Amino acid sequence: MAKRKLVDYRAKRDFSKTAEPSGADVVTPSRALRFVVQKHAASHLHYDFRLEMDSVFKSWAVAKGPSVDAAVRRLAAEVEDHPLDYGDFEGTIPKGQYGGGTVMLWDRGFWQPDGDARALYAKGDLKFVLAGEKMKGGWVLVRMKNDKYKRKLPNWLLIKHHDEFEEPGSPDALLELDHSVASGRSMDDIAAGKGASPNRSCARCTSNAMRYGIPIAPMPPIRSGGRKRQAGAKPSSSCHRSCRRCYANWSIGRPKGPIGCMK
Ligand code: MN
Repeated sequence: MAKRKLVDYRAKRDFSKTAEPSGADVVTPSRALRFVVQKHAASHLHYDFRLEMDSVFKSWAVAKGPSVDAAVRRLAAEVEDHPLDYGDFEGTIPKGQYGGGTVMLWDRGFWQPDGDARALYAKGDLKFVLAGEKMKGGWVLVRMKNDKYKRKLPNWLLIKHHDEFEEPGSPDALLELDHSVASGRSMDDIAAGKGASPNRSCARCTSNAMRYGIPIAPMPPIRSGGRKRQAGAKPSSSCHRSCRRCYANWSIGRPKGPIGCMK
């Protein structure tokens, strides 16, 4: 399933020249659906917003980045599906290659659709909750009708819902948090190959989302489609550290409790 969906992704890239993942690796099933946002300084700076769905990341390029002001809608151009291991990619795509430029793991965490993800996506009205380090609470992607751009894939609008995480009057408040959630690095550090390498996302951290009141419930894995089930697998050594990094900063207005990894 995922393989067929990644035909476009693979056709655009030469994996002997770019360090981006080919999508051949098996990704450990997570307790909930993952999301990731990658800040990408390609020919035009943009933020790639990716939601795990049917064993791939559905992806949108958000030129101006996500706005936390519910009144400010951001154009989100749908792009080709990406493999799940892309969710751990941070580095520089060589010049001359597709998407050449620096990629930062700007945010990551879990998402939960407000209903059946496939049906909402098909309808073009995808409402969801995010539990990331930067992006939190309710959001919606609305597919544009009468799209004047006439691209192969449709344009959508990414809009914040009214809730405790909105920041009226400060649409770009999150963009000022301009560091990697996986390495703490700036775009310049990543471009120069300096600093810590990114830690991998933790597949077992949803307990923290629930602890902080963001309603991300563990979900059954979406159809097996090539992903091996690894029931009972031990967390990787980087898991605990990765959890602390992901969730230590997000207890806005909430007591800072112990941050732990679900074992
Ligand atoms: Mn991109």
